[in-house]
Amino acid sequence: MLTNIIEQIEHFILQMEPQRSVRWLNVSPAWALERMQRARFRRTLRLAAERSSFYRAEFKRRGIAVRRIEHPSELGDFYTTGEDLRAHGAEAFLTGRADTAFETTGTTSAVPKRVFFSQRELDEMGRITAIGLYLLGMRRDDRVLSAYDCSFWVSPAVLRNGLQFMNCFHVEAGKIAPQEFYERARAYRPTVMFCGPSWLVRLSELARERGTWPVKFLYAGGENIGEEARHVVESVWAAPLYLNYGQTESFGVLGSECRRKDGYHRNDLFFSFETPEADADGYGELVYTTLVRDVMPLIRYRSTDVTRLVDEPCACGLFAKRIAKVRARCDEMVVCGMGNVGPWVFEELLRGVRGIGADWQAVVRHDGPRDLIELQVELDHPSFHGEVERAVRAHLRERFGDFWQNYEMKLYELRIAPVARGQLREGRKLRRVIDERQMARHFAVR
Ligand SMILES: [Zn+2]
Repeated sequence: MLTNIIEQIEHFILQMEPQRSVRWLNVSPAWALERMQRARFRRTLRLAAERSSFYRAEFKRRGIAVRRIEHPSELGDFYTTGEDLRAHGAEAFLTGRADTAFETTGTTSAVPKRVFFSQRELDEMGRITAIGLYLLGMRRDDRVLSAYDCSFWVSPAVLRNGLQFMNCFHVEAGKIAPQEFYERARAYRPTVMFCGPSWLVRLSELARERGTWPVKFLYAGGENIGEEARHVVESVWAAPLYLNYGQTESFGVLGSECRRKDGYHRNDLFFSFETPEADADGYGELVYTTLVRDVMPLIRYRSTDVTRLVDEPCACGLFAKRIAKVRARCDEMVVCGMGNVGPWVFEELLRGVRGIGADWQAVVRHDGPRDLIELQVELDHPSFHGEVERAVRAHLRERFGDFWQNYEMKLYELRIAPVARGQLREGRKLRRVIDERQMARHFAVR
């Protein structure tokens, strides 16, 4: 009864104008949110157990009595993985009639994961998106231009729905070449632009040479970006670049940055978050359960992203707790002669190095008995090779004492390999760390 009232109030709050919603959500008591989460989780779990053939079979096989489960953590070692979605197909997860679907390919398999949604879910996500954009300073008189890739991707649909509640002028360019975008965007003089981070780096390079126009903020989704590259973009446009964190499986936004840019404020109204196997620093794979989806709910979905849940309040004062910046994808963590490394290590090695592009990739392979870490970077000019190598080595010594020791002990070799611009990027996502030693083993077995 009380939970029903709380849900009614929440529904009412989300229907308000964004600025009023924020004010109300900020004064909502924590116990009300917890209670609502709990009720929503129970409802989602029952729905999945009753109507999804995948969950019904899995719960039966594992002897899980859903009626007794109050919280996702009580499901023990039960998780849903991307591989489950691929192997069983989206239809095995359906619990209701879908209106639309989106796809995601990821970096580990060419087989897309398909995820289904209803129009009601699209609208709800749109409302939350509008509230988030309002918090970042977007107003009705802003002019929005989006370069989000519209091919099977969820983000343009979520954005479109959000903007509908903001009521601002917007144009969708799709993901066209930055040069063409630059030429055509000028005519609209957009105050807010949405795009992918690497694409934005290229656009900003063009804009630095040919001139900018006044921009309120830039917003990037779809992948991670280093602080160095963010800084370059922000200085070109003299405007902040905000990032969001999300997946197609989660229906886009799991969390979004605020003006402090210190982690992503998470959407606890729509998701329950866990990091069940966190290390001593609190970092572990993010696992989430959808709370308001009724077409294709996901129970304890393994995001494959390594991060930390931040419960301390943010200096911005917003009620929503945070997810720390994602450190790595689980499949990009590599144990090698260097140590236990992931993308953030190479990000640090390249931070402040001059004469290189935004994209890079680290490949770990065997070089005789030792591991060779080949850091592939785009050089602005071939003659920079030696200088870049020296700078990276200096950073290794200054920033990673342990890795440097291993280097001096000749446990591995670190080399810079120049690549042509744009060579590393095949699809939307760039895999940052590749372990070729595993592939060699894999082929050897076959
Ligand atoms: Zn904040």
